[in-house]
Amino acid sequence: MQAKTIKKNTVLTIVSLCCFVLGFEAAAKEKKEPWELAQETEVWEPVPKVVTTSEKNPPSDAVVLFDGKSLDQWQGVDGGAARWHVDKGAMVVAPKTGDIRTKETFCDIQLHIEWKSPKETRGLEGQGRGNSGVFLQERYEVQILDSYKNETYPNGQAASVYKQSIPLANASRGPDVWQNYDIIFRSPRFDEEGTLIKPAYVTVLHNGVLVQDHVEIQGPTSWIGQPPYEAHGCAPLRLQDHGNPVSFRNIWVRKL
Ligand code: MG
Repeated sequence: MQAKTIKKNTVLTIVSLCCFVLGFEAAAKEKKEPWELAQETEVWEPVPKVVTTSEKNPPSDAVVLFDGKSLDQWQGVDGGAARWHVDKGAMVVAPKTGDIRTKETFCDIQLHIEWKSPKETRGLEGQGRGNSGVFLQERYEVQILDSYKNETYPNGQAASVYKQSIPLANASRGPDVWQNYDIIFRSPRFDEEGTLIKPAYVTVLHNGVLVQDHVEIQGPTSWIGQPPYEAHGCAPLRLQDHGNPVSFRNIWVRKL
């Protein structure tokens, strides 16, 4: 009986020792080097595509919409030729010839556009001074206006989402000085019945200053009232002829 107990105790001791040794080894294995722990949070896919950039040129994956020479990428909103002028590397609104739009259609985009208010309208006030506009998908206007020391309703000044959103700052430069917008636009989504399932959103930097911060667009731009969304697909970019000879240059788009 005693011998049996001794044997049982010996077995238990051996088992305990084995467990202790194995546990120690496992614990030793668990203890990783810092570089091993760092590797656990490295994500290697997807690899971002390469976009080449430089100070002077648009990003390599951009669609250049105006290169300073021709209006080849543009047409009148009636489908005829764009009748604006090209002058000294800029395209200039020819008043009363109508808006122009890109031949290509766009959905979600990053847009860079440079513009300059004319000196000629400096004597005019409010909405009459250097008025034009960037209509995203032909419908949603980011206002262009000479808003340098020029009072108007703030939801209609430069860099407003016209009649919808006041810019966070007035970053305007004076007339005859080049300015720029960098715009990130997310187009609205509609279901198969044409019901809005997600509104459009826009972010705008005016001369490098954030002025619209992921703003929800309420519907198409209108001078009077606030019309509701109507279903549409990808659509051209349109520039407004508001009767003032506003200049544009260096226009490019990246499809998102
Ligand atoms: Mg306008």
